[in-house]
Amino acid sequence: MELNDFWQTALADIELQISRPNFMTWLKSSQLIDKKDGVALISLPNNFAKNWVQNKYHKIILGTLRNMDDTTKNVEYIVQSIAAVEALKNKIIKKSATDNVGQQSFPEMKVDPETNLNPRYTINSFVVGKSNELAYAAATSVVKDVGSKYNPLFIYGGVGVGKTHLIQGVGNEVRNASHNKLRVKYVSSEKFTNEVIWGIKNKRMETIKDKYRMIDVLIVDDIQFIGGKERTEEEFFHTFNALYEDNKQIIISSDKPPRFIPTLHERLRSRFEGGMVVDIGYPDYELKAAILKNKLDEKGVSLKDEVVGLIAHRVSKNLRIMDGVLNRILFYQHAKNMDITHKIAEQIIDEVVQEPVRNIDPNEVVKAVAEAFNVSPSDLISRCRKQELVLARQVAMYLLRDLLAMSYPFIGEKLGKRDHTTAMYAYEKISGDINRNTALMQKIMSIKDTVSKS
Ligand code: ADP
Ligand code: MG
Repeated sequence: MELNDFWQTALADIELQISRPNFMTWLKSSQLIDKKDGVALISLPNNFAKNWVQNKYHKIILGTLRNMDDTTKNVEYIVQSIAAVEALKNKIIKKSATDNVGQQSFPEMKVDPETNLNPRYTINSFVVGKSNELAYAAATSVVKDVGSKYNPLFIYGGVGVGKTHLIQGVGNEVRNASHNKLRVKYVSSEKFTNEVIWGIKNKRMETIKDKYRMIDVLIVDDIQFIGGKERTEEEFFHTFNALYEDNKQIIISSDKPPRFIPTLHERLRSRFEGGMVVDIGYPDYELKAAILKNKLDEKGVSLKDEVVGLIAHRVSKNLRIMDGVLNRILFYQHAKNMDITHKIAEQIIDEVVQEPVRNIDPNEVVKAVAEAFNVSPSDLISRCRKQELVLARQVAMYLLRDLLAMSYPFIGEKLGKRDHTTAMYAYEKISGDINRNTALMQKIMSIKDTVSKS
């Protein structure tokens, strides 16, 4: 179990260092099988994935594991089917229970086994600013009015803006305010999916159903991953209805609003939209600085104001990365036993925050896509709707967003004077397709290679 926690923590970090589609394709089903004598053994489901990960991500994986545990010397990779991994894991768990092998402990990860909530996420430690005040207001209303006022509460926003913190904060608050009487359950949509799969396989779907229907507050994190998984969506829909009709509170988070989760069934989408839908935007400078100050207070340490300002300025949007930067700086300060200077802080930040290496010309992206799809660049930026151009154009839109972070209106305009919703749709569609279509993903990766080398 602890190996798994360790690996999940590492994966969360690795996910920030590579693109999401690559992460989903290559590392999602990886497992940490063993870790001893400084060697971490990672399993991948097939040879292809093993070679790919070894060639492309070894450095990142090793670096991440070293950061977490500096006794890590190397990483080795093996191919193992999922079933074999499960069997092996059971063995290791049993073994480590009897051997009492001392492993790294994670105080931050002590989740309550009944609710799955991490006590570290509280409403009190959630700092409020312009980008999250509406979501915060909705969340606190739910605490006061469980199950009636805002139901379901649907919170969406980008990676690392505080969704998990806020929804778990509500869970913890409701739980405490009711003196543990209200039954709260936090679940990632992945965990929910796995339970449904387990239930189907073992003909124990009723057990799962009963378990979820006894809950007073159901919190589902990152619901976007449920879209397209037929049976899971079906089960979730029924659970949702049962709880909803019973006036039980449902809280959901997602990386996008319901209407942009591409494969979500209409009926579930309209259920979500029938409640309170509210977003958390990217934090501005003030909010980032306030969160940093708050964290310093919590930890009872201090940092020069100019360094706090520098961190808030340099970390763009992802608060999880900001957290990592802060921890590194504090660690350094502690190890050297001296106040950290602006210059050293800058060096540490440089290590963590990757700036785009250089500016890529959008025209080069369009050109490379055209070449890869055997069409002409002018076809791509024309308004022509020929079938064979549609996919190529969507890929171009996706890449302009993914590589250059261009705004949707700009992308739409650039590729045939289209509406920004067309660009948004293209981005979401290709993001999803990549996870299912390896050929498309490889094509896109080779286009990326071309542009970044030219
Ligand atoms: P998300 O689920 O949106 O990806 P998280 O909830 O995991 O983001 O937040 C990332 C990190 O930033 C966490 O450590 C969280 O505690 C912290 N964080 C995010 N928003 C706030 C906030 N408003 N106040 C304090 N900490 C925050
Ligand atoms: Mg989250």
